[in-house]
Amino acid sequence: MNRIAVLGSTGSVGTSCLDVIGSHPDRMSVMGITAQSRWELLAQQSGTFHPRWAVVSDESLRSSIGAGAFPSRTEVLFGADGIEKVAADADVDTVVSAIVGAAGLRGTWAAVEEGKRVAIANKETLVVAGPLVMQLASKTGAKLLPVDSEHSAIFQALQAGEGHEVRRIVLTASGGPFRGWSKEQLGQVTTEQALAHPTWEMGPKITVDSATMMNKALEVIEARWLFGLEADQIEVVIHPQSILHSFVEFVDGSVIAQMSPPDMKLPIQYALTWPNRTDGPSPRIDWSQAMSLSLEPPDHDAFPALQLGYEVARQGGTAGAVLNAANEVAVARFLNSDLRFIDIPRVCRAVLEQHEFEPTPSLTDLLRLDEWARKETQSWTS
Ligand code: NAD
Ligand code: MG
Repeated sequence: MNRIAVLGSTGSVGTSCLDVIGSHPDRMSVMGITAQSRWELLAQQSGTFHPRWAVVSDESLRSSIGAGAFPSRTEVLFGADGIEKVAADADVDTVVSAIVGAAGLRGTWAAVEEGKRVAIANKETLVVAGPLVMQLASKTGAKLLPVDSEHSAIFQALQAGEGHEVRRIVLTASGGPFRGWSKEQLGQVTTEQALAHPTWEMGPKITVDSATMMNKALEVIEARWLFGLEADQIEVVIHPQSILHSFVEFVDGSVIAQMSPPDMKLPIQYALTWPNRTDGPSPRIDWSQAMSLSLEPPDHDAFPALQLGYEVARQGGTAGAVLNAANEVAVARFLNSDLRFIDIPRVCRAVLEQHEFEPTPSLTDLLRLDEWARKETQSWTS
């Protein structure tokens, strides 16, 4: 039995993860679930999955939750410390890291420190502190399994050869709702337009990241650390249908891809069942229907965020933490109609260029810069 803690269980990845666990009652059980503020959904999930712990990280909600809201077998914990406690508990085998943003770092770190299997959806943790997380994992024996669909595809395709036989990897990107738009058109984008993704249903932050293509920038950085590649070994191609989830090109020129309908349940399940595969709730490709798959190069001019991702992947050090923090605040400001869509990559570049770069930072350095970059981005004006 794989005893699982789902950090961020009320989100898009978190709820898909519970669907996967619920369809494997003989192999998987839920030990802990966590949410920032949606405690009603957390209570409902507790009624279905009977976890040992449910964590509400917003402490101010303690007084609004009535006695009896959660089943008596579930202990309710409050605050971010509760997330760490659950992630590190000896009775938890696997931690699914599905909190959004750098807020996911603490729980992920705690799980890696304890040498657990970590199914990692929270790419921001790897963008902020990739080298430190990978070092810690190799010390503790923690196994990091990608949930991000592109990285799951790469992880699956890598099994067709040896590490030293890889020439490069190719990450696919849907292109988001604004594929083919000009810079002028992008100047007029509304929050509603940015939140309408053509192929994936996801939380608001990653949906905006997909529209700016910052998501792919973060994924280039994620892949750099997760797979130990050079930035120049990572390519991006636009694939609007989101069926081909990324490829590995080997030294002989052979390219191995992974395909499936755009649904996160498959990469989540693979991270939970690896090295095995099982039947499950993921949809299948219908081969009786005609289908066209297309690939095209990205438009770097209209989507400058992508280039920023490559620069940060090359620099390493403190650059990832600064880019990530600036982007999180910029996206929040955009969603509050306090910043234009096209200003998101601009403010990220400005804050990145202002920061005091350090090539081998400690975790404390990274957290300090995260805070600094948030303040800078909050007060930035175009
Ligand atoms: P979401 O917004 O739908 O859910 C976020 C979850 O994190 C919720 O459970 C929320 O309660 C919790 N949370 C938010 N802020 C928190 C905080 N400060 N402290 C503690 N908990 C907090 O997000 P999502 O779309 O599920 O994405 C989660 C992560 O997975 C992100 O890192 C995203 O980049 C990554 N990811 C998502 C998808 C997808 O299809 N949604 C695909 C690939 C990768
Ligand atoms: Mg992805």
